[in-house]
Amino acid sequence: MKKLKLYNSLSNALEDFIPIDPQNVRMYSCGPTVYASPHIGNARPLVVFDILYRVLNCLYDNRVTYVRNITDVDDKINARAKSENISIGALTSAVTAEFHKNLKLLNVLPVSHEPRATDHIDEMLSLLEKLMANGFAYEAEGHVLFRVKKMPQYGMLSKRSVDDMIAGSRVEVAAYKEDPMDFVLWKPSEEGDPAWNSKYGLGRPGWHIECSAMSHKYLGEQFDIHTGGQDLMFPHHENELAQNFGAFGCIMANYWLHNGMLLVNNQKMSKSLGNIISMDDILKKYDGEVIRYVLLSSHYQKILNWTDQSVNQALQALDRLYGALNMANSANVTDVTNDVNAGRRSLFMTDSPVLDALCANLNTPLALKHLHDLADRIYKSSDATEIDQLNGLLRREAEILGLLQKNCRDWFQHNPAELNENELDENEINRLISLREKAKSEKNFQQADEIRAKLLDHNIKIEDTKDGTIWKLLRSK
Ligand SMILES: [Zn+2]
Repeated sequence: MKKLKLYNSLSNALEDFIPIDPQNVRMYSCGPTVYASPHIGNARPLVVFDILYRVLNCLYDNRVTYVRNITDVDDKINARAKSENISIGALTSAVTAEFHKNLKLLNVLPVSHEPRATDHIDEMLSLLEKLMANGFAYEAEGHVLFRVKKMPQYGMLSKRSVDDMIAGSRVEVAAYKEDPMDFVLWKPSEEGDPAWNSKYGLGRPGWHIECSAMSHKYLGEQFDIHTGGQDLMFPHHENELAQNFGAFGCIMANYWLHNGMLLVNNQKMSKSLGNIISMDDILKKYDGEVIRYVLLSSHYQKILNWTDQSVNQALQALDRLYGALNMANSANVTDVTNDVNAGRRSLFMTDSPVLDALCANLNTPLALKHLHDLADRIYKSSDATEIDQLNGLLRREAEILGLLQKNCRDWFQHNPAELNENELDENEINRLISLREKAKSEKNFQQADEIRAKLLDHNIKIEDTKDGTIWKLLRSK
């Protein structure tokens, strides 16, 4: 069996992955707070840890439980619902629906469980009971707080000392706290905000307790992998870990994976700079596969710098890869397997450089290079049988990255957002192609050539294949 190596933030070392139970590998990712469309920085962990999920499915024959929550109770949600004058329920279900649509466009596989925080208030309250009973929590003025001093190991994940944390500005000082470091597990709700009955009065959960309660319900007291963005390590992940430690006396997860930040033109995305790119906007403009490719083009632990150039490079790279697939005979070109599981199993059985690269701490840039090496071999080959074999290999290798699963015709002809910027719409292109077909059948080659030239003027290149005429949008470099 192939060995999977992962960089563990808990030990700060590259480690062999050894699951607690190989019959049920368990991982958790912190999901979105559904108050507005997530931005492309939020899309990075979704895609990166989708790769991890695919790899684990290969290695453990689909015996993987992957939980990613939806945070649907939060101050930001309340504020947005008020400012837009809509109900909280209407806001969170609209944003959740948009999130699901965008995941599909990014070809992110569905998770095993997607618990919503508001469906798990009882589980959160019983976790509070445990923390109270164990002396890790206390009640003060309608709040329930975590007693950080009770846990000398606090800071073990983010490697911060309590003094460092107090020196940082992220600690909220409040008179009712025993210690400034103590964080909120439960708080009173203000008039008009969502509220649940509890023995501490009408209130709502703090953010951190949501993830502890939901991961416990679906994955147990201790599970294999916890993932999320680097920015969540402190305080969110540190606090999740502390809560589970206080309630169950064990370390929540054995492996903690964190992806690096995403910058836009070397700057942090921020409202004040006005450079926030929402997933919804970018996916209206580009095919999800292009965005997926950009997100995989850097190693997940490194900073990813998002630029127009990186998007164009991804477009060109995918054109090149689909172009190689398009060189196979027509039967193969249209043979796109929908049976993902079968695809994964066959990949596991064969020698796979892509899987090897991913087993080395999810080295996606190297995995992408292997796809291009295969494409090179296809472009250089003049042997039809070899081209077809390489073609099948390229599709199978790309599947584990969630790439190249479209029909070539669909890739080259359906990039609706880009077509909007072109003067010709799809109907017009198809009309001209039929006109050209007709001219050709009437042996009017001059007219056929004129139509080809006219299309080329609009950056549309046509190719005659065994499948009939297909067109490609030539992209600017
Ligand atoms: Zn979380």
